[in-house]
Amino acid sequence: MSLESLYQEIIMEHFKAPRNRGEITTPDVSISMNNPFCGDEITLHLSLQNGRIADVKFRGRGCAISQASASLMTELFKGLPLANASTFASTFKKMMRGEAKSNETEPLGDLVALEGVRKFPVRVKCALLAWSAFEEGVKGKK
Ligand code: ZN
Repeated sequence: MSLESLYQEIIMEHFKAPRNRGEITTPDVSISMNNPFCGDEITLHLSLQNGRIADVKFRGRGCAISQASASLMTELFKGLPLANASTFASTFKKMMRGEAKSNETEPLGDLVALEGVRKFPVRVKCALLAWSAFEEGVKGKK
């Protein structure tokens, strides 16, 4: 299997069976964002405890890239200190701008599957939607 088709597989798998889909009853962070260029929508819920992401859930609809990116992000973020999650968010954005080195993107795990989206600039917004929601939602939180 080529790397490209493996990456395609990861994206489609998360799109069809998204992780952490749903809502948190009393979230500390609740934020909705959309990407009008593609019609993607994401609602992100976070539950924070002692500076950690105790729980994270999302609802959304839209293209495979936007939904897979959200699913992969929540999988990575669950249980992480908020500071680490914010660092990952910066790294992911750098990767999508083509500015990250491979040793920087390594901790992102399966998320590197989305790097290929860079070849389609209009889709980069799809990949970034959940991450922008996260950054906006946790602004000023520690
Ligand atoms: Zn999209």
